[in-house]
Amino acid sequence: MKSAEIIAIKDSLLDQKSVILNRQKEFKTESLMASLHLADESEQSVFEQSQNLGLQIREKEIQVLHQIEKALSKIADGTYGQCESCSDPIGLKRLQARPFTSLCISCKEEQESTSPLYQ
Ligand SMILES: [Zn+2]
Repeated sequence: MKSAEIIAIKDSLLDQKSVILNRQKEFKTESLMASLHLADESEQSVFEQSQNLGLQIREKEIQVLHQIEKALSKIADGTYGQCESCSDPIGLKRLQARPFTSLCISCKEEQESTSPLYQ
């Protein structure tokens, strides 16, 4: 893979990372502000529902954050773009579409066909 292509992917990973980190910060501020202004119990329960939804989104984003970190560390040590299962190059188009992927398309297909989720 050319270094310019890796740099482009790295930039987009760093972008996504800062978007998620900013959102996590906003979420914390919002919930702090909201909890200070709750008047009665009905508001409290609406607040808790929105907090739960927010938590689910946050948990997903934290998973994405881990995947971004993993991809970035692979870029740093030069193993980015290599399939974790067969060590073949994953392919630029696939990486551009799914920058966090750690499997090449054929290993991914094999994994999906053997996983009970896909049967
Ligand atoms: Zn593979």
